Amino acid sequence: MQSEKLMIPGPVEVDDDVLGAMGAPVAVHYGPKGTALYNETTSQLKQVFRTEGDVFILVSSGSGGVEAAVASLFAPGELVAIVVNGFFGERLASIAELRGLQVVRVVAPWGEPVDPAQVRTTLSQHRQIAGLLAVSVETSTGVLNPLQSLGALAQEFNVPFAVDAVSSLGGEELAMDEWGIDVCVTASQKCLEAPPGLAPVAVSRRAWEIMDRKDNPYVGWYLNLKIWRQYAQEWGAWHPFPITMATSNVRALHVSLGKLLAEGLERRIARYHQAAQFFRAGLGPLGFSLFVEGAAATSVLTAVRRLPGLNVAELVTFLNDRYNIHIAGGLGATRGEIFRVGHMGQACSPESISLLLEALNEFLQVSDLARSPAPAPASPGPRDGLQ
Ligand SMILES: *Cc1c(COP(=O)(O)O)cnc(C)c1O
Repeated sequence: MQSEKLMIPGPVEVDDDVLGAMGAPVAVHYGPKGTALYNETTSQLKQVFRTEGDVFILVSSGSGGVEAAVASLFAPGELVAIVVNGFFGERLASIAELRGLQVVRVVAPWGEPVDPAQVRTTLSQHRQIAGLLAVSVETSTGVLNPLQSLGALAQEFNVPFAVDAVSSLGGEELAMDEWGIDVCVTASQKCLEAPPGLAPVAVSRRAWEIMDRKDNPYVGWYLNLKIWRQYAQEWGAWHPFPITMATSNVRALHVSLGKLLAEGLERRIARYHQAAQFFRAGLGPLGFSLFVEGAAATSVLTAVRRLPGLNVAELVTFLNDRYNIHIAGGLGATRGEIFRVGHMGQACSPESISLLLEALNEFLQVSDLARSPAPAPASPGPRDGLQ
């Protein structure tokens, strides 16, 4: 089977041994083996989150983990501040509102990181704010929000800080304990380079203290992190989670995290960064410009502005039909205006990126959008507007 080249910002193409682990016979999720697999995997995750807190693996996509964080940390009626500068920040705010919270949005334009000074103003104007929530990498635009500064503000105002790191954990620097993050959520299918299906959630000691003090009658059962803690404590010896664990997915994640830790977090992050730089250096000569400039641009994905006359949907279809390459269009406000390319997993390789650049060039030629004269080869040095 000709494999599809997934160059979208998740899910990503995973290594054969990761896929192989997924295809082994179904295993019992409890008992000595099931428990060891789960505990080893949560230990690996602690290293990636850089936390000494507790880690749980929810069987859900990333959004389930985000909802668990919101539902467990806050009670209906409480006021929270949420950073909104893209589609996933807005989704975080919707989850909070649908859970009955009052939300103050700290808004920044799509494509720009939030200004911590603006968050400070919001936190000082609304003294009753019970928490700060933000997305780490806003996958809709490729912006990296200033998590470390936001964590410091949450400490200063003594409110818990919850982070959606679904698209960044393992691909961008993130130090949960050091940066004062209280609940941090990710998913298996992005920078952790495993198939979709799992949402790892990490919880700090301060978060438990806050949850233990709070009367939160409508938190429910499945997304209730206290239930997950209760099973880890009471059934820890043979069944450290409240449900039937998705052992096939956990096995795959275990293999993938083993590879990540063997490579080293820093090296992995550097490799994504190089891939992003390589791709961006090739875009300039084709005439493209970036949606996010400078240090605010994440290296886990690149968002590219369309050229005048370029139809993004046609480009996506062309790459798909001709090259078996999948890239993503824009979401929400940027739909039709940008396309997005992930640098996670196999998409990170110079071969994949070169092939995509070649394919983009061909699309420009056949659509009569190519620069004339013919583009010069990619220059090795930094270019204007290409950080
Ligand atoms: C992908 C993504 C999500 C949604 O994750 P699902 O696994 O699709 O539920 C949430 N937040 C961010 C920042 C993402 O990139």
